[in-house]
Amino acid sequence: MLQLHNGEAQVMLDTPGFIEVTPTADIKVTRHGNRAKCLQRLIRMGLPVPQTVALPFRTVRDIADGKMPDLATLISLFDGQPMLLSLRSSSETADWGGPNAVLNIGMNDKAHAWLSNTLGDVAADKLYLRFIRSFAIDVMRLDEEPFLEAQTPLEAREIFEAEVDDPFPQAITDQLAAVLRSMARAWEGTSARLLRQAQGAPADAGLGLVVQRMAQGMGPGQSGSGIVQFVNPNTGEPQVTGRYLGQAMGRDALIDRDKAIYLTRDARGPSLQDLLPEVYRELLEVGEACRKRLREEMQVEFTIDQGRLAILDAVRCPREARASVAIAASLARDGVIPRSEALLRVAPGTLSHLLHRQIDPRAKRTVLVRGIAASPGAAVGKIVFDSAAAQASQSRDEACILVRRETTPDDVRGMHAAQAVLTERGGSTSHAAVIARGLGLPCVTGATGLRISGTKRRVTLPDGTILREGDEITVDGSSGEVLAGAVATQEPAIDGAFGDLMKWSDDVRDIGVRANADTVADATLSRTFGVDGIGLCRTEHMFFDSGRLTVMREMIFAETPSDRAAALERLLPMQRDDFTELFQLMSGLPVCIRLLDPPLHEFLPSENEGIRALAEALDRPLSEVKARIEAMQEYNPMLGMRGVRLGIALPEIYEMQARAIFEATVAARAAGAQTMPEIMIPLVTARREVELVKRRIDAIATAVREETGQDFDYRVGVMVETPRAALRAGEIAETSAFLSFGTNDLTQMTYGLSRDDAGRFMSAYVNEGVYPEDPFRTLDVDGVGELLLLGAQRGRKARANVTLALCGEHGGNPESIAFCRLAGFDYVSCSPFRVPVAKLAAAQATL
Ligand code: PEP
Ligand code: MG
Repeated sequence: MLQLHNGEAQVMLDTPGFIEVTPTADIKVTRHGNRAKCLQRLIRMGLPVPQTVALPFRTVRDIADGKMPDLATLISLFDGQPMLLSLRSSSETADWGGPNAVLNIGMNDKAHAWLSNTLGDVAADKLYLRFIRSFAIDVMRLDEEPFLEAQTPLEAREIFEAEVDDPFPQAITDQLAAVLRSMARAWEGTSARLLRQAQGAPADAGLGLVVQRMAQGMGPGQSGSGIVQFVNPNTGEPQVTGRYLGQAMGRDALIDRDKAIYLTRDARGPSLQDLLPEVYRELLEVGEACRKRLREEMQVEFTIDQGRLAILDAVRCPREARASVAIAASLARDGVIPRSEALLRVAPGTLSHLLHRQIDPRAKRTVLVRGIAASPGAAVGKIVFDSAAAQASQSRDEACILVRRETTPDDVRGMHAAQAVLTERGGSTSHAAVIARGLGLPCVTGATGLRISGTKRRVTLPDGTILREGDEITVDGSSGEVLAGAVATQEPAIDGAFGDLMKWSDDVRDIGVRANADTVADATLSRTFGVDGIGLCRTEHMFFDSGRLTVMREMIFAETPSDRAAALERLLPMQRDDFTELFQLMSGLPVCIRLLDPPLHEFLPSENEGIRALAEALDRPLSEVKARIEAMQEYNPMLGMRGVRLGIALPEIYEMQARAIFEATVAARAAGAQTMPEIMIPLVTARREVELVKRRIDAIATAVREETGQDFDYRVGVMVETPRAALRAGEIAETSAFLSFGTNDLTQMTYGLSRDDAGRFMSAYVNEGVYPEDPFRTLDVDGVGELLLLGAQRGRKARANVTLALCGEHGGNPESIAFCRLAGFDYVSCSPFRVPVAKLAAAQATL
């Protein structure tokens, strides 16, 4: 039985529960929603907005509970013949969604007859049929199929009446009551609730509703409806885009794209500009007025009712990442919004999308397989087949491509660690595609020619070729191609808007942002992004080059100090050249070089082939080399002979590195660079370690000064990455110019959680709510954060001017940056591609 008038609908609200939207009405976003407020602004601007009434959140909540406002009074506010209304949702933030609009409420037999006389039978039939369909499907939730098949209002009415066993409601109050109730309840439904909560809506988010008199886009003369926006949604550049469809209403022009025409005159075909140049000009003025008064680029929904323009709605123009940056910057440049607001309007993570590398167009491309271009950008890396392997690669600082049949939430961790994602299944909205776009990661999905065997750790290409874990490929997420080997890529094009935003961030932020950069390429990129220096140069990466690895291995295998000295003598000029180049590139900015950190056996081969080659290079028996490698194995290498322990046990290594740094300082300065070297001691646990290493470094500095006759400054500091170092930061700071918190190891050691293996159970831990988030990605403010605060406080107390920094992965995470800023840190240091994100996040933290 159709529940329209009886039962709950008869319970009336005490107050009117609605308000006409006039220039002076008390309309609030927090009470009536975003759409109602926006319509009021359009009305205040004098735009031709049809008469509108707003229902606040409270009324809609009451409607869901069975209490209806006095609809007869509401309807009496409107004039018009016939009385046709639309109902649209108005949540507090457009992103929180809301039920779809229902148009032409009030359409009944009488209105149909009246419209047949005025607009003609065709238009009247079309309107009535559409309303019955929408009432049946969206409001009464009847099966849509029979209604879509019905071609006349009469047929549709018969189907309706047969389904609900009641006549099709004729009174506008009955129709409106049913639509209101259905929208109010849809908002309370579980799926709508979950969807908006995913967009950040609070649990008690309200829904407002907006009733508007229909401006008919159907009838004699020039009538129709359309959508217009004044910027390109991909680039944010000024451009009038949109569609218009004659004899149509609502968003028909977007649905029936084949029949719709463009807005602007160009080569693509007929346009509204040709058809109705006056109206087109008026629309341009509307766009300009919206931009200035609403301080935003708006997408405007309009109707042309017998040649007269009506503005039905305006929403924030949908936009891609690049466009959101361009629009914010252009509004600020034109003085429409202050720069601080432009900075706040861009989510820091959005910047990653602008930073994609592209395949060098001149590079040779050998296509292995094609799929869907699911997320733009190009990346080179070694194939891995699961998250654990991806995370292991990341911890070795090795680029990898995650190759999966398809991805699930369990793979997100691996995606974070990978440079790109390739899947056999899925499309442009599959899990892999959506997540990859969110992360700004190149992604190719639906590469259907692939056969992936995760267990055998191999993938078979369409031509039968087999690729194995560790093989290098290039993923081009912009074209959907997967290419053989490492194809040359180009730096992303970073345009003026991006540069403006970076500059404005620099003007307001009060915490430094440095880069973790080990190579010339990293340093160059970091300079492009305008870093404040290098906060972490991991020197071990400099020894993995093929030419150097052998010398490194000779050094490791040396039995006597003099043999070791000879090998180090050969490594010295290589290191010196590395540093000279880095210092020249970073001239004028500090460069913090970390002395060798990883366990030495990481430099030794683990497979037979490599061991044999090493035996040949060293001219030693294979058995001896094997035995030495085995003897160097540790049960727990991350807690073993690494970091400063190497510096204490084998001091010649750090001495060589210190000498290389000082000689490079002299060389770079001779070449005109301004160099400020900082030397960082890793994995410190005790003050004495620092004293011992620092004394040697100082002695080398004195020697180099004497040898070269050149004076230079330098600073020696430590990485705080063991809990003990954080607790004893006071005494450690006495001999350290800076304390740089290495939150990767500090997290590992605070939790007792292997950073290389935690991926195996992290998703279970997060799913079960054991940890709110992966602590290796977002700083654990409660635990690790407390160590940071303690360390910072104790360090500062002992040495007021000690520099405080964070250089773990968290250095690129907006929340962690805000934490460091509040803790009074001087800078954060993160990977080069995170630098723009960190700069913007740092700026936002001050606003
Ligand atoms: C750290 O431990 O946080 C750090 C920056 O050093 P690495 O990642 O090289 O261990
Ligand atoms: Mg570390």
